[in-house]
Amino acid sequence: MKRFHCDCGQEVYFHNTHCEHCGRDLAFDPVRLTLVCGHREQGRFLSQDAQHRNLIYKTCANHTEPLQCNWLMAADDPHSQCISCRTTQTIPDLSRPKNPLRWKKLEQAKRRLFYTLLNLGLDVRGREQDEKGLSFQFLEDQRTNPHVNVEHVLTGHYNGLITLNAAEADEGFLHTMKEAMNEPYRTLLGHFRHEVGHYYWMKLVKDDTLVQFRRVFGDERFDYQRALSIYYQYGAARDWNVSFISGYATSHPLEDWAETWAHYMHITDTLDTAHAYGLSDYEPSKNDFDTWVAEWNQVSQVMNALNRSMGLADAYPFVLTPIILSKLRFIDQLVDSQGR
Ligand SMILES: [Zn+2]
Ligand SMILES: [Zn+2]
Ligand SMILES: [Zn+2]
Repeated sequence: MKRFHCDCGQEVYFHNTHCEHCGRDLAFDPVRLTLVCGHREQGRFLSQDAQHRNLIYKTCANHTEPLQCNWLMAADDPHSQCISCRTTQTIPDLSRPKNPLRWKKLEQAKRRLFYTLLNLGLDVRGREQDEKGLSFQFLEDQRTNPHVNVEHVLTGHYNGLITLNAAEADEGFLHTMKEAMNEPYRTLLGHFRHEVGHYYWMKLVKDDTLVQFRRVFGDERFDYQRALSIYYQYGAARDWNVSFISGYATSHPLEDWAETWAHYMHITDTLDTAHAYGLSDYEPSKNDFDTWVAEWNQVSQVMNALNRSMGLADAYPFVLTPIILSKLRFIDQLVDSQGR
């Protein structure tokens, strides 16, 4: 992600609603992908910075507690919620104590997801424009709320609808799941990036690209339920990391795609950030796959070394082998041809 500055010169951040230094209000313009500083009043936002002087926007209806969403809309936008918030179809019961904070964390991670999708030029239209458009439901199950019917909420994607267990927003729950599933790199943003991968497979892979897909990832017509039960019974093959980015990616070609897609987004966003902070010369607009990979190898080495100095686990312990790179290249070409 790029860096943002208030008009007063203070560095400010993606989720900020006001500047700590000069006190002015801040909001995010998802069309220009930038933070705007100005004045928020009665559902309107008047920009007052040098670049967007006197533009009038509408604020997202969720700008109040608990979400404090700082995203903007065009002044004449008929919706009451921003492009990210309005894709959420179901939220957990807010009268239960932990849920307002869970919902806030989920939406924050979702806005970060949307930032990268918008930056890549991908279609993020919701259900009101496309019946198989993007939508989200954040549910609770009996592990955290005995009053709901569902015993286990499973994270997943079906025809554009992405389901997440709201409890994934709790540190404690996430930690338990990391151990139980042997996924030390499990995060909310990682979930979103994986699930949205299934959505874009449905949108982007068809006709001639489907033939290519099968050549790179394998045949997705292989029985999905059977593949997953085999994976959960026997685990990944011993030498999985030659061809797959994660053990789970070995379970089925569609899971391999979603795992690789998530990495494509991790790398794209992190390289953007590294560039914004002067850690990499890579110009995101250049979009040259080989340079992208070379720069990522450098940046991920630096991140890992910094983490080790702090006594932390490696930030990016994954190895991008030639086979995995051919999968990432396929995704890059698809994004190039359909998005950007
Ligand atoms: Zn300021
Ligand atoms: Zn919003
Ligand atoms: Zn999946």
